[in-house]
Amino acid sequence: MPTYQYRCSNCGNELEIVQKMSDDSLTICPKCEKETFERVITAEGGFVLKGSGFYKTDYAKGKPADAPAAPSCATAACAGGSCPMAK
Ligand SMILES: [Zn+2]
Repeated sequence: MPTYQYRCSNCGNELEIVQKMSDDSLTICPKCEKETFERVITAEGGFVLKGSGFYKTDYAKGKPADAPAAPSCATAACAGGSCPMAK
């Protein structure tokens, strides 16, 4: 379940509240009991981190493609000069 950040514009009370997606937003501050309690729309730090993570993964994937292709045959026989694939 997602965690929502709430802030009261009256008393400055801040809370993280775990809610179902389908739950209504809270509007009443549990501290001062005024209808000044609002969900804070943040930049979603977790989402941003995920995004850069994907970028890093893509970058790492691209690396091997730039390197020389691995030899298709790397057996002991190949090293000894008697590789059947080298003929
Ligand atoms: Zn309040």
